[in-house]
This record gives sequence, structure tokens and C-alpha cells, in this order.
Amino acid sequence: MKNEIPSIEVNGDNYNVGYKIGQRCKKQIWQLLEISKKKYSSITGKPFEYFVHRSKKILNLSHKHYKNYIDEIKGMSDGAGVNFNEYFTLNFEDEIEDFLYKCTTLFLKTKAGLYLGHNEDWTTDFIDKLYVLKLKQKGKPNVLFLSYLGPPQFIIASINSAGIAFTANSLYASHRLGVPEALMLRSMADAANIKEAIKDLTIKPRGMGMNSMIIAKHKIIDVENSLNNSAVIEVNKDWFVHTNHPLKLKGKHTKNSLLRFNRVSEMLENSPKRDINLIKKILSDHKHYPFHSVCRHATNKKGEKWSTIASIIIDMKKERMLVAQGNSCQSDFKEYKLN
Ligand SMILES: [Zn+2]
Repeated sequence: MKNEIPSIEVNGDNYNVGYKIGQRCKKQIWQLLEISKKKYSSITGKPFEYFVHRSKKILNLSHKHYKNYIDEIKGMSDGAGVNFNEYFTLNFEDEIEDFLYKCTTLFLKTKAGLYLGHNEDWTTDFIDKLYVLKLKQKGKPNVLFLSYLGPPQFIIASINSAGIAFTANSLYASHRLGVPEALMLRSMADAANIKEAIKDLTIKPRGMGMNSMIIAKHKIIDVENSLNNSAVIEVNKDWFVHTNHPLKLKGKHTKNSLLRFNRVSEMLENSPKRDINLIKKILSDHKHYPFHSVCRHATNKKGEKWSTIASIIIDMKKERMLVAQGNSCQSDFKEYKLN
């Protein structure tokens, strides 16, 4: 049976926040490092030390932008009792797995307020490698986010007391040595306004491209990033969808991404009642099951290890996040409040 997602409430400076997360999630962090060491070597044929060496280069590139958040990861590794350089190396996760067709994100405006909905797709062994953090910080907004434990501080969805909320999804499979997406997202969680959020997303050199849907109080934007280019889409209608093909930048429109994009668009467009229950229905939808469905299921056949590992709904008005662990067709949403 899967373990519940740990929910951690902390305050303090970045190192101490990280230390507390590391202590609480020690077992999962150890497991994750063991799994990753074997996986990195078996997929690439290179020893894990090769990636540890490479990760020192991205650490140097990141220091001037994100020293505080690197301290947070140092705190996590110390709290868990693992080697910092090895733990930081888990930032190569996306490059190693190199899988583009993942995650569905939507925005919906209803009479009850603004919502973000998101399905996080990755390999099933990460279902119990997530945590929820409720953070109170001096001089910064309070934050509530759902994150992976590795790559450390890789945020799936976040809402803060400055009215900034976001989710992220894959856009391009290309990589280079650059600032890890995880650090950009962690910093974005602390953003006090839309300008700060975009600044984080578009930092250079970045290690990979991505898409992020952002609510900033009443403004909704979607930012597409490749390694070198960025495009901002201002959303002026009541709903918006993004999967893994660019809507404004150039790039491939794959069958998998288009099927999910069209299905969610069709459900939002045609539903007589648009409310939070519609988002739940969409996130557990099985049209084009199992691989091309919004609610994706791993079938354990070769090449089909990919699954929805969490569904998330951010409710701006009630300042809360609802999280269903694994596939939301099989589990209930649990509520987490920002305050
Ligand atoms: Zn399902």
C-alpha cells in the first residue's frame, strides 16, 4: 500500500526549513538516492559519479541566482544524512528519463473563483516520493506547495499569500548544463508579483525548457520556454489548457499531447456546468486510456511505466490546494490550506 504524502509545516531560514524537510522525509530521500544511482547508470551506461561531477558545474552556474535555495537543499541533505553533491545530482532526473509526454494543466474561472487543475505524470515509483510544504517566512509570502523530494525542491504546484499560484509541465525534451528547473520553480513559489515570477522562469542559462501556467491575483498568464526563447500568453477567456506542445513558440505537436489537449478543451467547452467537480472529472478522465488519457495508467508492459502520480486543484478564493495521490480515479482529494 502506498504511504500518505507527508505534510510538513515549517518556518525559519532556508537551511533550517530544508533541514526539517530532510529529517521528516529521511527514509524516502535515502530510497530515492539508491533508486537514482542504479537508474542513472543502467539507462546511460555511465557511473553515477560522472553525473555528480557534472552537477558541480550546474551548482556553480546557479549560485549567483539561487544561493538561498541551494542552502535549503543543503539543509535537506544534512537533515536526511545524505551527501549534498549526490543529492543535488538528482536534478538530472528529467535528462536521464528524457520523457516529454507528461502532465496536463488547466485554468478555470467560475462564479466561485479561479482554479488551476493539474495531473502530474511520471514513473510510479515516485508516488510516495512527494511532500506538501506549508511555509511561513520572514519578509516573504507564506507558501503552500506540492513537490518532489528529488529533484530536490521540484515543485509541482504552488500557491502563496501574495496571490501567486502556478503549475508546471514539460514542453521540450532538450537539455544543457544550466540552472535547474527545480531551483527556478522554488524561487517562483516565493514571488511577490508576476514580474518576479516571470524573471525566475526566464533565467539563463536554463537547463531545460518548460511551460508554466500562472495566476497572479486576477491575471492569468501562460509562459512557454525553450532553452533560448520565451513566449507569454495572456489568458482572457474563462478557461485554458496546456499539455506538452507549444501554443505560441515553435515545436512538435505530438499525438499524445494533442489528444489530451483536445479532450480537456472539449470537456471545458461543452460542459453545461463549469465548477470544481468538472475539474475533478477532467483529471480522472479515461478517454484514450491508458497511455493517451488525461488520467494515465501504467500497464506494466514494456515502455509503459508512465502514470499519473498525483492530481492537484488550486482554489484561489479559499487559498487551498486539493491533492489526490496516484490516480484520482482511485483516490480521494485531500485538502491543504495556505493559512
Ligand atoms: Zn484513472
